[in-house]
Amino acid sequence: MAVVPVELGGRSYEVRIGKDLLRDAARQCAPLLRKSSVPIVTDANVARRWREPVEASFAREGVEPHWLVLDPGEAAKSWENLQRVTDWLLAEQVERGDHVLALGGGVIGDLVGFAAAILKRGCGFIQLPTTLLAQVDSSVGGKTAINTGAGKNLIGAFHQPSLVLADLGALATLPDREMRAGYAEVLKYGVLGDAPFFDWLSAHGVEVLAREEGSLEHAVATSVAAKARIVAEDERETADRRALLNLGHTFGHALEAETGFSDRLLHGEAVALGMVLAARYSARRGEISDADAERVTRAVNAAGLPSEITALGLDCDGRRLAEHMLHDKKMDAGTLPFVLLRAIGDAYVARDVELADITEFLNGEL
Ligand code: NAD
Ligand code: ZN
Repeated sequence: MAVVPVELGGRSYEVRIGKDLLRDAARQCAPLLRKSSVPIVTDANVARRWREPVEASFAREGVEPHWLVLDPGEAAKSWENLQRVTDWLLAEQVERGDHVLALGGGVIGDLVGFAAAILKRGCGFIQLPTTLLAQVDSSVGGKTAINTGAGKNLIGAFHQPSLVLADLGALATLPDREMRAGYAEVLKYGVLGDAPFFDWLSAHGVEVLAREEGSLEHAVATSVAAKARIVAEDERETADRRALLNLGHTFGHALEAETGFSDRLLHGEAVALGMVLAARYSARRGEISDADAERVTRAVNAAGLPSEITALGLDCDGRRLAEHMLHDKKMDAGTLPFVLLRAIGDAYVARDVELADITEFLNGEL
């Protein structure tokens, strides 16, 4: 098992990464639990595969899990479900010193984390992330949120968990496409700030995607440590530091918007393609070599992720994609901050990017 210590929000906690952590969940969580029952929120896909081992684990410790099982999917991050979760936690008589467990992907983590942030002005929560994306990204950093008609993640809070248990074994049941999508965020940490990790992934990425335990543990632990470090340097996103985590996300967001945030293009797939575009655009500006941009393309391709916009079959021009970027919440008024590359492993926030130039670049890619 690998343990990554995290210091955020004035508190410290551990991200534990290893096999069979869900089967050992009760013992791992025991020091944080005060009652003979524990509330666990999950979604139906995860419950079908993982409820039983978690249930058995708590039974051995004499703790009774109480379950709330929600419908899977992004739509679960809603006001309705926030109310449902908080009402349920109140009925469960959860106090501020108690902990609620979030068992699932980023959707469950974001929703339950937000519910915990506002329940009695903040109760404890423990993340049990079951997707690769949740293990390397959403369960670390303390951002929690729901979606509204106006956009994604617009209503939320910063609220750190007390413990994160990333069970690598849980990824065995994750669909391959979701696994690859999560891998895009893993690759991102290499491209934005860790060239040796990028090289390591270029050699061992296939093993990570095949869920080989040693490689997977190294990839997840390195990613979690990178995210924790970057977030700690800029916890509330007031400097440019945390913005580096948006590498590939501005281009990616435009592609997600154009495909209607649908299954046509998963978030991680959009980020992978967005990273390739950021690399190529950096090369166009003479900031990285064409050869390095090509290495990013190859790494994305090798993971079975999309590296060409033409493959998406979009019916739009560069201008339309650029306009989607203007609506991205990460845009400051008047300027277009873009995460670009000086080298593989050296990302920075460029503030001099003109919309017309991006449009021309995208027209060349379409
Ligand atoms: P998700 O939670 O919807 O999970 C993807 C799918 O996999 C779902 O159908 C789910 O039921 C299923 N699933 C989960 N674990 C499984 C398992 N072990 N076996 C089989 N199926 C399983 O999506 P996600 O990609 O994990 O997370 C996406 C969400 O995360 C988005 O809402 C995004 O906004 C959020 N996010 C938050 C942060 C943050 O900092 N808080 C960062 C990145 C993303
Ligand atoms: Zn992302």
